[in-house]
Amino acid sequence: MTMHEYPEHLDNCVEDASHLFPGKVSDLHKHYQIVCHCGGSLFELFVSDKESVLAQCATCGTRIVVYDLASYPAAVKLRGEELFRPLAATENRPSRVYVRYEYGPLDADQVFDRNDITWCQVFVESVSGRLEKVFDDETA
Ligand SMILES: [Zn+2]
Repeated sequence: MTMHEYPEHLDNCVEDASHLFPGKVSDLHKHYQIVCHCGGSLFELFVSDKESVLAQCATCGTRIVVYDLASYPAAVKLRGEELFRPLAATENRPSRVYVRYEYGPLDADQVFDRNDITWCQVFVESVSGRLEKVFDDETA
């Protein structure tokens, strides 16, 4: 595996954050910080009733998809209207946002698919500066 070990919906929106997760990084576990095209790195998070996560840039308002079950080949997303609510941890308190994506081990005849994640965790920086897990979903 080389670059782009994150789902396509995060293209141009991430920077490597492996150094913040010592001992947690592996070939199958990738860590990134969410960054906006405007340079902003503080976001408010929104979670939906279909387990989607959006990060809204505190500087320009752009909404970045952090997690969406419609984007992963092994996942099934419930149909119907999707309702988002603010995540309490960042409501009116924009924070740096970090993600961990897990990939499953590949069989010998499988080709790596960057969208084929098996797990997603989302972290924010707490007031004390520690990383706090605010979302955790097994994709498939
Ligand atoms: Zn922005």
